[in-house]
Amino acid sequence: MKCPFCGSFDGQVLDSRPIEHTSAIRRRRQCNQCKKRYTTYERPEEVILMVIKSDNRREPFDRKKLWASIARACVKRPVSTETIDKIVSEVETEISDYIMEVPSSVIGQKTLQKLLDIDTVAYIRFASVYNNFADVNDFMKELKSLKKEHDKKNIKKK
Ligand SMILES: [Zn+2]
Repeated sequence: MKCPFCGSFDGQVLDSRPIEHTSAIRRRRQCNQCKKRYTTYERPEEVILMVIKSDNRREPFDRKKLWASIARACVKRPVSTETIDKIVSEVETEISDYIMEVPSSVIGQKTLQKLLDIDTVAYIRFASVYNNFADVNDFMKELKSLKKEHDKKNIKKK
């Protein structure tokens, strides 16, 4: 760290402490040249998760966009905005395991699994938009496999 008074790089940290409710750290430093004291703040670089689209393009993960696409699938369905918030938050938490990039298909699958528990119509709408099925058979196959998974999960719960 360069001393703001004399420009020397020869300094020491006297004290480090986290700033409450943030991930920042405040450090008291002293310059070994001019002996003056100063304070620095350190915070982690904000990590932006990139979504890999099916055509390999990347775009930053956008919470609002996911929210809007779920809301579209839930039009005139008994799904509250709180529920949509919850789905988005859960998906967001689950994909935070990915360090830099996450395939859009992962986000789609996670969202679908949650919608399946909530509302079948919303699930089917979301699935048809998200997966862009080539034909009805592909769609039915997907639906069956998810349904099977879902039933398995429910049996385990009981
Ligand atoms: Zn100095």
